[in-house]
Amino acid sequence: MWEIKHNIMIELRSDTFTKPTKPMLEAMMAAKVGDDVFGDDPTVNLLEEKMANIFDMEAAVFCPSGTMANQIAIRVHTQPQDEVICDKNAHIYLYEGGGMASNSGVTPALLDGDRGRITAAQIAAVIKPDDVHAPVSRLVSLENTMNKGGGSYYDFKEILKIKKLCNDKGLALHLDGARLYNALAETNETPSDYGNVFDTISVCLSKGLGAPIGSVLLGSVAHIKKARRVRKVFGGGMRQAGYLAAAGLFALENNVERLKIDHQRARVLGDALNKASFVEEVMPVNTNIVIFLVDNVQKRVAQLKEKGVLAVPFGGNQIRFVTHLDFTEQMLEQTVEIIKALN
Ligand SMILES: *Cc1c(COP(=O)(O)O)cnc(C)c1O
Repeated sequence: MWEIKHNIMIELRSDTFTKPTKPMLEAMMAAKVGDDVFGDDPTVNLLEEKMANIFDMEAAVFCPSGTMANQIAIRVHTQPQDEVICDKNAHIYLYEGGGMASNSGVTPALLDGDRGRITAAQIAAVIKPDDVHAPVSRLVSLENTMNKGGGSYYDFKEILKIKKLCNDKGLALHLDGARLYNALAETNETPSDYGNVFDTISVCLSKGLGAPIGSVLLGSVAHIKKARRVRKVFGGGMRQAGYLAAAGLFALENNVERLKIDHQRARVLGDALNKASFVEEVMPVNTNIVIFLVDNVQKRVAQLKEKGVLAVPFGGNQIRFVTHLDFTEQMLEQTVEIIKALN
């Protein structure tokens, strides 16, 4: 009995824990494939073409992970000694192993954003003068939604201001859009609105969209040509990757519309946590991420686990829940009951 209970743990550690459904696996099994390093995999080519069309960008390249897609973008836009401007909690800085330094020889200029959202004024204030002492400010990188900001998303008007500043100052603009589809589900913008603003965008297929692996980097023909060369050097040139791209195509067709459901369930979790005595604060819940502050992180994560709910310690006094397509309505009800009973 005890073992069976542990097989039905409620998984709220991340939206990366989703497992391919039977129809997704069938789509993968049926994929037509070739050697993608030779540009010969029809399913990878179709995914890249489709994503480029959706975002109204010229080209796209399929990557094994979001980290690689971001790191390729940084390499494409910069030279050693350049500087990347981003939030202090940006994934590219905090969760990519210092990759921008080792892969591209660049340093970050870190800004103190509002739950990860930086402004044009903040960026303008740190752009370096043309002086031999200073690194060359070259790239601005935004993250939307913002993981460490509790799934916060940008006001598109601010993004347009940032774009204008980048144009005026000759800076490239990259978007870490690992969860961009979550932001799009809550706002009136379309993917092409984003495609028309950013020089490059990375999008994860393996988070809320439910594919087992894969991210796509979007950009101009010239940028993506360069990106393919960097991807090969980073070890990301895959052969019959069409089996994986098929999962991405399936995810785009079937799992985008339903993201709102994850957001609604996250809000219900946020409400339950707000009422719980062991919770000191809940960050506003905007999409599928719920970050909350508790009295004792280790104790509460252990208690939740004992009751069958998995969560991650998220630095300081914080715990993170992420909702996703394998987190059902019944699991939501159970989790709310477990939160209520915890003291
Ligand atoms: C998950 C994530 C990534 C990286 O994706 P991986 O596929 O795990 O390498 C990049 N940016 C953000 C904001 C993420 O949440």
